[in-house]
Amino acid sequence: AVVTRFAPSPTGYLHIGGARTALFNWLYARHTGGKFLIRIEDTDRERSTRAAVDAIFEGLDWLGLKPDDTVVFQHAREGRHKQAVAELVAKGRAYACFMTQEETEIAREEAREAGHALRSPWRDRTPTDAELEQPHVIRFKGPLADTLVVPDAVQGDVTFNTKDMDDLILLRTDGTPTYNLAVVVDDHDMGITHVIRGDDHLNNAARQSLIYMALDWPVPTFAHIPLIHGPDGAKLSKRHGAQAVGDYQGLGYLPEAMRNYLARLGWSHGDDEIFDDEQAIEWFDIADINRAPARLDFAKLGSVNAHWIRVADDQRLVDLVAAELVATGHAETPQTREILSRTIPLVKERAQTIVQLAEAVHFAVAKGPVPLDEKTKKLLTEETISRLNRLHENVLTWNDWNAEYIDGQLKKFVENEAIGFGKIGPVLRGILSAGHPAPDISKLLASIGREETLVRLTGGLF
Ligand code: GLU
Repeated sequence: AVVTRFAPSPTGYLHIGGARTALFNWLYARHTGGKFLIRIEDTDRERSTRAAVDAIFEGLDWLGLKPDDTVVFQHAREGRHKQAVAELVAKGRAYACFMTQEETEIAREEAREAGHALRSPWRDRTPTDAELEQPHVIRFKGPLADTLVVPDAVQGDVTFNTKDMDDLILLRTDGTPTYNLAVVVDDHDMGITHVIRGDDHLNNAARQSLIYMALDWPVPTFAHIPLIHGPDGAKLSKRHGAQAVGDYQGLGYLPEAMRNYLARLGWSHGDDEIFDDEQAIEWFDIADINRAPARLDFAKLGSVNAHWIRVADDQRLVDLVAAELVATGHAETPQTREILSRTIPLVKERAQTIVQLAEAVHFAVAKGPVPLDEKTKKLLTEETISRLNRLHENVLTWNDWNAEYIDGQLKKFVENEAIGFGKIGPVLRGILSAGHPAPDISKLLASIGREETLVRLTGGLF
């Protein structure tokens, strides 16, 4: 059975590229009925703070990518890594190297001139027990000159020349295992069958393959996916905008929209742009991962998110918008949620993010007169103001409050005034909803409520 994994090094946040890698691994495991595992590569003790590790979990949690087994922490497996190195030494596939820093540099320079990677003079020597008391590293004994073909499910066969590959350090002088060794041992022990990760790890795949073979372990299927680029085609960086998954959450994207969008980032199924998890799981295959880097496209992300907002459960949107309003400094009153429940369905068609949705409904939950835009100010002639006053008087006599009733009352009002609706519609929109794209006037009044409508009709500002 297929076992995939996401193996982030805690950097303080879950990067959007990492999230896409995690998603691909998750989708492939779901697609094949296999398992998706998580390993935290926390061997860099300084960077791997509790907060940095939690940030990864929070990001994955929000995205809904749950592992199918307990999370593995790489650092905790140090003993096992050392054991694997001892096995390699016993097999004659690794050796103790006593070169000092300077000696290493000289040897490296000589090797460069001779046209191959660093070779240690200790490669074929058996150190004495006394020598082994001295500081040393353990190096992998790689093939000296050979062609190594690493089959990759995305990149095809990738050929390496082992003469260009150093004898990799497996254990440092302080006895701690190095990255490539730890990855191989962990992937093997976790039963990983498919390694889907960024193509910045392609060179590591060559080194790791050699270690697998030396240990007589099966080499997993590698699938190195091209990194995500910015809209301009350059490698994704801060200047392109949000990098962390948490930033996207803050900007008001829904997790199902992120999954949908990220799945399309470097993978495709025909021309399908909008699909849910079930469809993605059914369709996802490594064979359909693109070889060219995908470009982040915020316009597309916005339209995907808009779709998922349109189909989202209204009560969930109420919760998200209420939280967004509080986060942006608006006090929540006992009426807030009721008002949001009435208003969100009227405006959600137009919102691309929860932030936009919160802006669009703000007029409804705000208290008192709304700030007027220039267009509305111009409309507020003496004639219009006295008409609004008459409407205010009129509203006081209304004895019901729902869109249908309000619609009827407004029709009667314009009839009495002997004007067309166009004479009053725009100005009402301006003073009631601050010019925000808003639904029908009658629905607008219905969602603002009677009390607020009366307050805004008299304005205090005009
Ligand atoms: N820890 C590595 C990273 O965060 C990934 C290693 C792997 O997937 O093999 O880039």
